[in-house]
Amino acid sequence: MTEFTKSKRMMHYSGQCVCGTISFSTRTEPLRITICHCAWCQRRTGSAFGVEVVFNENDIVFAGDTPQIYRHVSDESARWLDSRFCPKCGANLGFTLEAVPGIQTLPAGAFDGSGQFTAKNYQTRHVYIRSRRDWADLSSDVEVFEAHFRS
Ligand SMILES: [Zn+2]
Ligand SMILES: [Zn+2]
Repeated sequence: MTEFTKSKRMMHYSGQCVCGTISFSTRTEPLRITICHCAWCQRRTGSAFGVEVVFNENDIVFAGDTPQIYRHVSDESARWLDSRFCPKCGANLGFTLEAVPGIQTLPAGAFDGSGQFTAKNYQTRHVYIRSRRDWADLSSDVEVFEAHFRS
């Protein structure tokens, strides 16, 4: 037991894809949060990193349509990675890795009120920072706006 699991309330979470065709709920708290900066996560999300809320696969329940799966085989490890997505809107719905049996992720941004996933409440790790993009940093080298710069 880590300090993270001892102190928190037992919560069940829900979320959905952009169009609402697929929704999901979880039976338990997440095991951890992994923020992955690998090149595969950059491609599959189209962003600087994937923010993955990690569960045992049996603790995730999908409703509505069944997520489509795209299987990618890693150049580096030769193992498969299955990414899930909505067949209608294409939204990212997490992934499963051959390397980590029994584990499935859901993207933090797809949850209802994803603000609960804080590093204070859950073990949170940044991985593959060797391919981290500096344009995602809120450093003094980039301009930062509370809303859009046009507003
Ligand atoms: Zn959708
Ligand atoms: Zn990754």
